[in-house]
Amino acid sequence: MAVSGTRPGLQTQVLSAGTPEETRTAVAAAVDILRRGEVVALPTETVYGLAADALDAGACAKVFEAKERPRFDPLIVHVSGREMLDEVAVVPAELSAVIDRLAGEFWPGPLTFVLPRKLTVPDIVTAGLATVAVRSSKHPVFKAVVKELGRPLAAPSANRFGSISPTSASAVMAELSGRIPLLVDGGACSEGVESTIVRLEATDRPKPLIHLLRPGPVTVEMLKKFGKVATAPRLSPQDGQPEVPGQLPSHYAPRTPLRLLAKPEDFSPEPGKRYALLSYRGLSKDGYVDLHDWDEVQVLSPGSGKLPEAAVRFFFVLRALDACGVDEIVSEPFPERGVGLAIQDRLRRAAVE
Ligand code: AMP
Ligand code: MG
Repeated sequence: MAVSGTRPGLQTQVLSAGTPEETRTAVAAAVDILRRGEVVALPTETVYGLAADALDAGACAKVFEAKERPRFDPLIVHVSGREMLDEVAVVPAELSAVIDRLAGEFWPGPLTFVLPRKLTVPDIVTAGLATVAVRSSKHPVFKAVVKELGRPLAAPSANRFGSISPTSASAVMAELSGRIPLLVDGGACSEGVESTIVRLEATDRPKPLIHLLRPGPVTVEMLKKFGKVATAPRLSPQDGQPEVPGQLPSHYAPRTPLRLLAKPEDFSPEPGKRYALLSYRGLSKDGYVDLHDWDEVQVLSPGSGKLPEAAVRFFFVLRALDACGVDEIVSEPFPERGVGLAIQDRLRRAAVE
């Protein structure tokens, strides 16, 4: 019997985009498949995305099916740049200058704006919301596909709903093999965590209020010069639902239970249980490496403690720890500055209470 989301008889074709010639072939194949109302997994600089023509409701429905994503969780729409933004979103006059400045600084790149939608965007993409989330990827393969197709692409992360986001082609295959016709392998993602999502609010001052709906590679520190950044999780006014469904308490979760420690003293191992440690720098002085005779230790940024390096390796290492056969993954806390805020956010959602 077919598992929900799998398509009987469908084999996922993998095309490499290593050389310029391979890239041309892979981009042409992706565009062809998208024109036929199909879905394709593509690399972005954040994580791999599962793309469909954003203006084709039937194609977008296939994204939800392959991911087993609930229909209330809206998709991010990817555009080629500031001009294509106007095809899918209404930029309010009072926000136009700041959007231009932010897009000028961070696009193409991992910053997503939540804006009032245009009615050309099907309901399925926005989950019926009056807003649409829009970004512009800087990955050369993704960029080339949007440009050649000439239409916006809806593309959430290429994993099954709620599980670990894929930052490599093999991770996409582990999640979606047999569910999608094509995957373009563009190597490892250069940022490693999902885009920063913001909603802008005009104020009576020249600078807007920037509501941080999801922390990501464009950090609070980077956004600060464009306006005051509000980081508290917000509920949408209409229904009390989280403004970003990625803010649901459980997300990005490995199958193995994960415990996020606040300090070393919080760890009390149960006899006979096997534990793995997810460590930031792997240094004894941080107090976690020598705390226990760990069955496995994975270090995100060995020695130096560089947060962007930790972010790039984060989902990749989490996936490896999930596969290593321990009873529980234990994680050190990460500093909540720079992209560390995004890592801590993902760890909190991955953790058991
Ligand atoms: P993913 O690419 O899988 O991380 O999913 C896209 C993320 O963007 C989800 O967490 C969505 O909830 C969020 N998102 C998409 N559209 C909107 C919107 N209109 N308002 C707020 N968040 C959105
Ligand atoms: Mg996702």
